Amino acid sequence: MTPKSAAAAARATVYGYPRQGGNRELKRAVEGYWKGRVTADALRATAADLRRTTWEQLAGAGLHEVPTGDFSYYDHVLDTSVMVGAVPARHRAAVDADPLDGYFAMARGNQDVAPLEMTKWFDTNYHYLVPELGPDTVFTADSSQQVGALTEALALGHTARLVLVGPVTYLLLAKPAPGVAAGFEPLTLLDRLLPVYAEVLADLRAAGATWVQLDEPALVQDRTPAELNAAARAYRDLGTLTDRPQLLVASYFDRLGDALPVLAKAPVEGLALDFTGPAAANLEALAAVGGLPGKRLVAGVVDGRNIWINDYEKSLATLGTLLGLAECVDVAASCSLLHVPVDAAAERDVDPQVLRWLAFARQKTAEVVTLAKGLARGTGSITAELARNRADLASRANSPITRDPAVRARVAAVTDADGRRSAPYEQRSSAQRAALGLPLLPTTTIGSFPQTAELRTARADLRAGRIDAAAYEERIKAEIRDVLAFQEKAGLDVLVHGEPERNDMVQYFAEQLTGYLATQHGWVQSYGTRYVRPPVLAGDISRPEPMTVRWTSYANSLTDRPVKGMLTGPVTMLAWSFVRDDQPLGDTARQVALALRDEVDDLEAAGTSVIQVDEPALRETLPLRAADRAGYLAWATESFRLTTGGVRPETQIHTHMCYAEFGDIVQAIDDLDADAISLEAARSHMQVARELAAHGYPREAGPGVYDIHSPRIPSAEEAAALLRKGLEAIPPQRLWVNPDCGLKTRGWPETRASLENLVAAARTVRDEL
Ligand code: GLN
Ligand code: ZN
Repeated sequence: MTPKSAAAAARATVYGYPRQGGNRELKRAVEGYWKGRVTADALRATAADLRRTTWEQLAGAGLHEVPTGDFSYYDHVLDTSVMVGAVPARHRAAVDADPLDGYFAMARGNQDVAPLEMTKWFDTNYHYLVPELGPDTVFTADSSQQVGALTEALALGHTARLVLVGPVTYLLLAKPAPGVAAGFEPLTLLDRLLPVYAEVLADLRAAGATWVQLDEPALVQDRTPAELNAAARAYRDLGTLTDRPQLLVASYFDRLGDALPVLAKAPVEGLALDFTGPAAANLEALAAVGGLPGKRLVAGVVDGRNIWINDYEKSLATLGTLLGLAECVDVAASCSLLHVPVDAAAERDVDPQVLRWLAFARQKTAEVVTLAKGLARGTGSITAELARNRADLASRANSPITRDPAVRARVAAVTDADGRRSAPYEQRSSAQRAALGLPLLPTTTIGSFPQTAELRTARADLRAGRIDAAAYEERIKAEIRDVLAFQEKAGLDVLVHGEPERNDMVQYFAEQLTGYLATQHGWVQSYGTRYVRPPVLAGDISRPEPMTVRWTSYANSLTDRPVKGMLTGPVTMLAWSFVRDDQPLGDTARQVALALRDEVDDLEAAGTSVIQVDEPALRETLPLRAADRAGYLAWATESFRLTTGGVRPETQIHTHMCYAEFGDIVQAIDDLDADAISLEAARSHMQVARELAAHGYPREAGPGVYDIHSPRIPSAEEAAALLRKGLEAIPPQRLWVNPDCGLKTRGWPETRASLENLVAAARTVRDEL
């Protein structure tokens, strides 16, 4: 095909769409089923309805090919495990007794069995269920769900493409099943898995599939030559099958790098590539391998992970270049639209001008359609859309919301010294020891105490106008009094106010910072039926007034012991929000850091001697490609230091991180120049203490001795045993005693008992020193 005829053939598609429905109908149906209020048939009917509505909407919007198989009751990786028969032995009976209940048992566990482990889907905030595989795993094909979805779509008259997790990514995302040696590599099962995929492909072809998409996002990560060979083998084998639909191998979230030539050479009919952000490097790389002669290229030019409108002219330029590089070029979002909310038009409270800058799944679908039309029929066919897009981009670029001269001047004036404490760690450490007068192995918590039903009611009452601000404040203060009284009685050394006023650790601050906005319906799936509504970091960030000082000061006034102030750090503020894409992340982080720095300074001025800046997201936002990590860690650690650099040497700065696997960022943790860190460690038996020690981490550390993700109460003996383990790596002058994370999801009875045991353990081990 010539570029011109390739252009004329351009079509529009997406890889997946939010499963929830316009009003989170899926959440209600699934949770209703769990509670016994919704029958299995009713759940299935709701699901079929949601699928049908989505396809109709997508086709109605002008997509030429709709995705199928992207819908899931819980998680698409779990669906893949079911499709290939990778059901762990402990779930077998439940699955055999009732496939639907067995499926949910794998997802959430039940009285008798633990669920599959859950972890983050690449660097998104979506979590998938980790396949458990071992040398004895036997794969068997069960394509019923996939064939069912495809048949439904075809029967409704849609041109549909079935989307599957590809075999290489599936294995790379898996972990050794319990009891299997840790060195076991699931990828060694590839030869056993491919025949099962072959069977599924044959089933799909028999059901009428013309195209099947195999998602291989794991290939955008750094891969070893052996892994790349496995990918080459997988697609050679699947490509040379005779009884199969046409294959589209999709990658997203980053550039393919060394995997690009591998896939370009594979005997498949099409590739889908991401061309947004760092993945824009795919463009040059594609030219360098000579393009995809004779193949279909699906170009992800609309960012599927953020909520900002596309730059049409830029995308059309990319698409124009791509035309010369493939047999035909289709237009798509860069990844499944699962990661964005459903419809920006549902937002009633967002300033209409700002609303025009936003694109959720529905708007992104329209963008893809417009770009495909512009590509196929020339820009003359989308004149009005182009003009509007240009005007919206200009309004965003010139708005006082995105350009606040005071914020810009302040950032420009930041010096190196602002990000440095006035004394080195060793000096600060002795000044703090003298000022705080803490015992060896001091005890503390991570910040939040149980968020009770009463607290949630108080917040709802305030929102609904049933109580006024003064009454709300009184309820919060009463809670702070209770939390303080308990901590004093339990004998904790560094107290917290308990964060009763916070709905969420990011949203609470976002609501008070200028430059952030909130959505009413901006829900995205985090895992299963859990949805989050990330705030939108839309403009330049500033802090009109103190955010936490009044609560911390109130707590301080109730006790003679030190009370720790509590803030969410700049990296986490970005990681759990939708962040503006019109400037480098580091610039945005610096603005947030300066706003938080004012809060830190105000806390200190109000007499707070210990201040904790939480950065649980530091590890999880690490770029997928190693080459990008140094740049990220540089701005991430710099923004933390800018937040905390203004306090006196005797003020102790803590940080906190959850989720294990800190090994590769210990240097970055050190570079934060905090005085103390608390980390999740109870489940890994203090592994992180050993990692810190191996690195020579010189500061104070509190590896958690109480697993707060479980209602289980650790005994004092158990906590003491963990502390002794911690002491093998960290000397008593530098070891803190604390839980893994905040207690907001726990109930009071287990919190009380666990913290009493934790204090008892600290006392026991102190006496042994
Ligand atoms: N200070 C927060 C809390 O205790 C930290 C939460 C977190 O790390 N996720 O809830
Ligand atoms: Zn935590």
